Amino acid sequence: VVDGTTTDEIERYVRVNLLRTSVDKVIKAFQTKEFELKDSGARLNDTRQMSRDSHLQDGIRLPPKTDLQAHPLYESGALILQDKASCFPATVLAPEPGSRVIDACAAPGNKTSHLASLMGNVGQIFAIDADPKRLATLVRLTGRAGCRIIEPYCTNFLHVDPYSLPFAHVDYILLDPSCSGSGMAHNRLDHLVDQFVGDADERAGNPQLDQAARLAGLAAFQVQMLTHAMSFPRVKRIVYSTCSIHAIENEAVVARCLAINPGFRLAPRARSLPTWPRRGIPGSVPHIEVELPEGVEEHESGSLPLSLTDDQADCLIRCSAAEDRTHGFFVAHFERVADVEELPA
Ligand code: SAM
Repeated sequence: VVDGTTTDEIERYVRVNLLRTSVDKVIKAFQTKEFELKDSGARLNDTRQMSRDSHLQDGIRLPPKTDLQAHPLYESGALILQDKASCFPATVLAPEPGSRVIDACAAPGNKTSHLASLMGNVGQIFAIDADPKRLATLVRLTGRAGCRIIEPYCTNFLHVDPYSLPFAHVDYILLDPSCSGSGMAHNRLDHLVDQFVGDADERAGNPQLDQAARLAGLAAFQVQMLTHAMSFPRVKRIVYSTCSIHAIENEAVVARCLAINPGFRLAPRARSLPTWPRRGIPGSVPHIEVELPEGVEEHESGSLPLSLTDDQADCLIRCSAAEDRTHGFFVAHFERVADVEELPA
């Protein structure tokens, strides 16, 4: 159960792989199998109804539990079974064909293949993941999807030198790091209070406090990863995402990274899925205990506790299982304050 919604009630979204086919062709194929096309906003009640998605240009909604595992369009890589919310990061980043992109925590590669689909297989995607088995899955799945612009790198993203080639020229970064997964049905940690971590003695033998400490550790890692992404010299925009519902992994990471990386700001709502109604949560955020890389300073340490204004929160995207019938999810879209062209070469 997520926010009172069972996994069985979450609508089935399929992403059309534009490298293999088009949304119109898939709709036609489903219509011949007696699926009825409804308006994009309609609730799908019948097992044989479908609609275009109202937020994703390449998304199709099907009723909960629709099984497409054996469908030839799925087997050929033309359809990707992907939750709607997890299609948001690549949609928001929207790298134009020809761009150079890092997918910094890429495996198993759903968002990587989405990037390739949106780029029409033109440009370069550096798919980085620290886990060799998961990266092997990425190579297999993106190969099946017909992606030809993905270069896999099995390494720790934190060890990638931003000034080394080919990374020094990267235009965009998608960062979807390990998180608590608390937005996913099976991982919900609703009993946790974000702010309360407790010390090791207090935590001993108390699984709830152990979970809170785990969240604090994840948040510190996420701040380090996002700060590292912001150190790539030519990067223009960055999308950060989690499938967590906890502020400490979401708004708190955003507020902290803005405070220590004055060269970046949140991209406006107008360029971050403006019609999606659920936005970030404004106000003060939980503190994240984190060791910053050498040379990175706290620019706003005088104004602790950190907080997000209403306008900043409005730039962020949240998804709630109960309200949106997706998994719980979070997306933040950052842009460089100065034009990249103004930076020294
Ligand atoms: N973006 C993926 C997708 O849509 O299919 C899911 C990514 S999953 C949430 C997080 C991934 O980050 C895992 O595959 C994990 O191995 C990888 N990871 C964790 N820490 C990393 C690090 N320091 N450097 C590179 N990859 C890392």
